[in-house]
Amino acid sequence: MKRFVPVHLVAILFAGLCVSFSSVAYARQADSVAEPSTNLALVATASTSFVSGHETITALNNGYQPAHSDDKSHGAYGNWPQSGTQWVQYDWSQPISTGKIDVYWFDDNRGVRLPKACRLKYWDGKRFAAVENPTGLGLARNQLNTTTFTEVSTSKLRLEIDSNGTFSTGILEWRVYDSGKSPDFPPSVKAGIDRVVVMPGKTYLQGAIRAAGNSKAALGVVWSKASGPGTVIFERADAAATTARFSAAGQYVLKLTAHAGQLSGSDTVRATVDPPAPATHLAPVLTKRYKIDNRLWSGRTKKIIVNWIPHCYEKLSEPGLAEGGFNNFIRAADKLAGKPFDRRQGPPWSDAYVHNTVESMCLALTVDPQGDAQIIAAQKAIRAKLEDWIPKILAAQEPDGYLQTHFTLSQGLSHWNPATRGDHEGYTAGYFIEAALAHYLMTGKTDPRMYRAARRLADCWCANLGPTPKKSWYDGHQELEQALVRLGRFVNEEQGPGKGQKYIDLARFLLDCRRDGSPYDQSHLPLTRQYEAVGHAVRAVYVYSGMADVAMETGDADYRSAVKSIWSNIVNKKYYVTGGVGSGETSEGFGPNYSLGNNAYCESCSGCGELFFQHKLNLAYHDARYADLMEETLYNAVLGDLDLEAKNFTYTNALDSSESRYPWHGCPCCVGNIPRPLLMLPTWMYAKSAESLYVNLFIGSTVTVENVAGTNVEMVQATDYPWSGKVSITVNPSAAKTFSVKVRVPNRSPSGLYTSTPKCEGLTSLSVNGASISPVLDKGYAAISRTWRTGDRIDLVLPISVQRVKASNKVAADVGRVALRYGPLVYNIESVDQEVDLVLGPNSALSTEWNGNLLGGVMVIQGVFTNGKTMMAIPNYARNNRGGRSLVWMKDE
Ligand SMILES: [Zn+2]
Repeated sequence: MKRFVPVHLVAILFAGLCVSFSSVAYARQADSVAEPSTNLALVATASTSFVSGHETITALNNGYQPAHSDDKSHGAYGNWPQSGTQWVQYDWSQPISTGKIDVYWFDDNRGVRLPKACRLKYWDGKRFAAVENPTGLGLARNQLNTTTFTEVSTSKLRLEIDSNGTFSTGILEWRVYDSGKSPDFPPSVKAGIDRVVVMPGKTYLQGAIRAAGNSKAALGVVWSKASGPGTVIFERADAAATTARFSAAGQYVLKLTAHAGQLSGSDTVRATVDPPAPATHLAPVLTKRYKIDNRLWSGRTKKIIVNWIPHCYEKLSEPGLAEGGFNNFIRAADKLAGKPFDRRQGPPWSDAYVHNTVESMCLALTVDPQGDAQIIAAQKAIRAKLEDWIPKILAAQEPDGYLQTHFTLSQGLSHWNPATRGDHEGYTAGYFIEAALAHYLMTGKTDPRMYRAARRLADCWCANLGPTPKKSWYDGHQELEQALVRLGRFVNEEQGPGKGQKYIDLARFLLDCRRDGSPYDQSHLPLTRQYEAVGHAVRAVYVYSGMADVAMETGDADYRSAVKSIWSNIVNKKYYVTGGVGSGETSEGFGPNYSLGNNAYCESCSGCGELFFQHKLNLAYHDARYADLMEETLYNAVLGDLDLEAKNFTYTNALDSSESRYPWHGCPCCVGNIPRPLLMLPTWMYAKSAESLYVNLFIGSTVTVENVAGTNVEMVQATDYPWSGKVSITVNPSAAKTFSVKVRVPNRSPSGLYTSTPKCEGLTSLSVNGASISPVLDKGYAAISRTWRTGDRIDLVLPISVQRVKASNKVAADVGRVALRYGPLVYNIESVDQEVDLVLGPNSALSTEWNGNLLGGVMVIQGVFTNGKTMMAIPNYARNNRGGRSLVWMKDE
């Protein structure tokens, strides 16, 4: 009688991907007769002649059964851009016996195609010899290709692959079957993904056991604490899938051991146990009318208002725009009014471009033009366009409040259907709600048209989706979750606590519904059990941002721990020095840990989402480190999305690129998204609690922060930051009140992946009304508590100097390379200024010089390459404005 591995060992988590291995692959025999389904590849070590930077050799024997030959959902082995003959190889720690293999070829119908031929060889003790009497060696797509051959006993098998012409080759899965004489192997154990646990929460352990061979003994598993300051309580220490709780904060190592007779294997997982989150979260500062007076930001903001936003709305107004634009709303309104209507254009989600642009238009109107004739003229035109657009957009809203032109104009589509998750119903609804809130605030709450429509839309969703008897559903592209929380908070403030709760409840419900899907849209596991950033990066950061919102609003321990785990995984393993995310190794998404090639994808929208995510964590944990990361993303990843004239944008943001920006894109999801964060500066600059006002960013500006200690506080910053570290903040409360102003003290190495030297930290000086003070430092903030009166002034000097940045040696792409930074700005070298393959020695002196004529005025960094030639670096945000190649990481050895 066959004995199978218990079910709790079969549903396993491996490498961040939910892999339900068939129990057959793990079948173990109770008697000595082995069956050919014992896959010995599972206990082999794989190697290859070459693996592409986009793929991984470990995919070869992860036990996954691909759905088709382009199924990269669980990784793939490929050797692009190589061609000719390549090989893959398995090594075993002791000789195995086999006479049968299966190969599932990888073919992406692009650079990687089916091979022309393959050969199987085995190590005969001296050399790789061809197996005898091979039958099969098939090269078919979308199936396992079985090959049988005269049984061999060997410790190595090698599969040679001949490419077809100029194409590369690849394999999704290669299995090697035991012929019955192979020895026992110890079980292979993966304890899981390192994670953070926020007390008093628990963590979900999902050990993965791979057992192959002919063990006569049943498997047994046991969890134990290897190290850590407190007690660990496992719900079931004898189950691979279980939970653990911790008695005290600190670093823990948990060990999973699997026994099979005399043989055992084990692995460990790290758990960082954090103290409980603060009981209350900070309140965001909503962007209303504000003034910018800053050498960097005044010019950038003006170009966005004068050039970029008109470009976006004019383009979206084009009647025949193939990507889909404003006219889809007219078509939908015509249909709803019973009139003849034109055919809709663009993909289902194209309403989003209009909603995003509307939000950016509203934000552009919150900027005080300070008499600038061009800004005044642009704002007048923006206002007129809004007046034209808003009634027409609202006319496309269905009687029940539903709004999405694709559904209104398509035949036979039903809302919230699992088959139409890709139609972005939630994504577009979320952007509309956000645009409506921005509009309502911009008008000083005098024009409720969009806001009311957003409430009707959200109410329509609330009426249809939720716990039984309502529908359960989730969207393929997240965004609505964070929008609903934004709306819920706003309604709570407007109408009293609890009035907006239903929107927050729906946000949580939509998050809770995500499961049984794919890592691509973060639905492979319940979100509360996800500890690693995976899949499409925009979807990912949007959902993580929504999770952070829900964790804050509900205090749910599982969401808190998942959010902190994913945050730590991103910032310490999957984060570019520019603050961008998404290497692009999965579809527009995250790659493996430390896999941060400089041909990065880093979509502009994912930079925006990364900023939102860090902002939420800053609110939840009152900790300046999240604002350090926000600043890094804003000043590099996001600020560089547009060219200096704000007439062109980029969809992707590689750290080594020769690509110029362009005015439009076949999927213009980023065009209206990019200006949102760039025009929402008050929200990033400040946060508040009942008794504290947090200063997160240093930008010359005038912003009113409402309701701090019962008064409104006008904050006037005067500074040339980031070019200088001197900042003067005048605090003007409407009435004298006692509260704390908490000024962020920047940390220039906010990610565990990168170290900046020399150290440039702390405050050079800090004074209030001219008297020097030594502040209390609290979570990265200098806290100044006193009774504030109009005109009180804080003067501070932040140290800013050129720093060399080195990446962890785990980031292969950056080994032997150095980046430069100045304050929050990361720098690039460009081929228009120098040869970019030269070496900047680690001891060469570096200096800065202001160049007012270059790139709108920038501080350049200068040095000397080892060959004596001059090195000149410019800020990353200003990269690729003059043609040629531009790169962040230059050689230093
Ligand atoms: Zn985008």
